[in-house]
Amino acid sequence: MPELPEVETVKRTLTPYLINKRIARVKIYHPGVITIPDPDTFSNLITEKIIKSLGRRGKYIIFHLSEGYCLIGHLRMTGQLTLTSPDAPLLPHTHVVFTLDNDSQLRWVDTRRFGRLYLVKEEELSTTAGLKKLGPEPLDPAFKVKDLANICSGRKKPIKQVLLDQTLIAGIGNIYADEMLFLAGVDPRRAASSLTLEEIKRLYEAMKTSLEQGIKNNGTSIRDYVDGSGKRGSNQDFLKVYGRANKPCLFCGEPLLRIKIGGRSTHFCSHCQK
Ligand SMILES: [Zn+2]
Repeated sequence: MPELPEVETVKRTLTPYLINKRIARVKIYHPGVITIPDPDTFSNLITEKIIKSLGRRGKYIIFHLSEGYCLIGHLRMTGQLTLTSPDAPLLPHTHVVFTLDNDSQLRWVDTRRFGRLYLVKEEELSTTAGLKKLGPEPLDPAFKVKDLANICSGRKKPIKQVLLDQTLIAGIGNIYADEMLFLAGVDPRRAASSLTLEEIKRLYEAMKTSLEQGIKNNGTSIRDYVDGSGKRGSNQDFLKVYGRANKPCLFCGEPLLRIKIGGRSTHFCSHCQK
């Protein structure tokens, strides 16, 4: 599933090609992916709007449009948002195609069809769907060690589950949670409230490192993820624990374990992570 680094990469790769482009028309092949408004209103409202800027909040990509509208996209499991030429063959599972005034097309492709699009007014952004409950952005300079300490304080749930809770911190999913806990040397099963300040500081640093590394490597492409130009990322080549169950730990050589925490598969080294 695309996490913060993947959505950020999609945003960054699309931005130079979309700014000040006008949406000439939209073709909806599968109306079910549009949550609000109804598909006809969606089409009418978005046509002729100009893309002013692109943003991201957690795992949501946000297109700021003219006349105060915002197109919000959540890629969920297998969503892809790519810019193509109008001649490119339509891939199976293409649900929405936005044709821009230079004839290039922004295509929403999603095999599992869990991804969602929303069109709202700018002032409704903070109250829409999952956006209204999102926790702070982990790469925001305003997010400090003390904020992570507050999040962990009093929470008896495993730290892995706390990291995945979008209402506590936005944008972290299964891959980066495992990676940052390994980098921090913290056992994912530990109650969040049991982490010492020293461990919280290490986790804070590891959070920034793993997310920034993911962005630098244009995201992790294990299954469907591609960036806005349709290219795979390379961060999968740098993962230390995720997807490496039974392989030797890169630090100590012991086999890595895979267990379930809160229903999610979790990869870690029981020797290095205390
Ligand atoms: Zn180890």
